[in-house]
Amino acid sequence: MHILVSNDDGYRASGIAALAKAMRRFGRVTIVAPDHNHSGASNSLTLNRPLTVEHMPGDDLYVVSGTPSDCVHVALTGLLDEKPDLVVSGINCGANMGDDTMYSGTVAAAIEGYLFGIPSIAFSQIDKGWAELESAAEVAGVVVEKFLPQIREKREAVLLNVNMPNMPREALQGIRATRLGRRSSAESVIREMSPRGFPIYWLGAAGKPADAAEGTDFWATSHGFVSVTPLQTDLTNHRQVGEAARWFDSDSLGGNR
Ligand code: MN
Repeated sequence: MHILVSNDDGYRASGIAALAKAMRRFGRVTIVAPDHNHSGASNSLTLNRPLTVEHMPGDDLYVVSGTPSDCVHVALTGLLDEKPDLVVSGINCGANMGDDTMYSGTVAAAIEGYLFGIPSIAFSQIDKGWAELESAAEVAGVVVEKFLPQIREKREAVLLNVNMPNMPREALQGIRATRLGRRSSAESVIREMSPRGFPIYWLGAAGKPADAAEGTDFWATSHGFVSVTPLQTDLTNHRQVGEAARWFDSDSLGGNR
């Protein structure tokens, strides 16, 4: 089995080294990761300049001057000599639950694999700072091991979003299949003065969980479970398609032409 490993925290991050190490027991590992931190990059691609790819031969590591999506995209469209069987992303420094998934570069790297029809998993630790990273890497190994039959069957591409409490493995309660919760709106932007005398703005922190009901990723991780959410990329609000046809009177643009 060949596993492609990427992340959004950059190739130097502790999380990607731990994840790659945990994946090596399943077969061949290739790391293709950004040259610096791209947290919050979402699914952005670099289209206005070329990318450089630096190969570190001993480690099967490729360092890309682009986003997480760029990394997986380049890997799958010409850099790798074969299509990988699995794409994993992370381990991210910080949670990617609920609305975070819309902004996350960690999830985006996995989405890129999924869009190319490859089973893909994003891994994140809830708290920042890498506490219990060894435990998280072990858990990532367990998740992949349990997921192997699905990878081998290759019935349909699967995209999993995994969030892990920063706890020792023996303290974790188990694995829960979840849905995404919701956060409330992000906190206010923080306005400061630059040393040059003009205002600068720091985007505020993510909102607190608003829907953390039982069954959500927020609920599972706050109760000591590893949360596994199957994701899809179809953003269509299927309930509103019929309504939208009425709002816009599909057959006519109207007006006096
Ligand atoms: Mn990150």
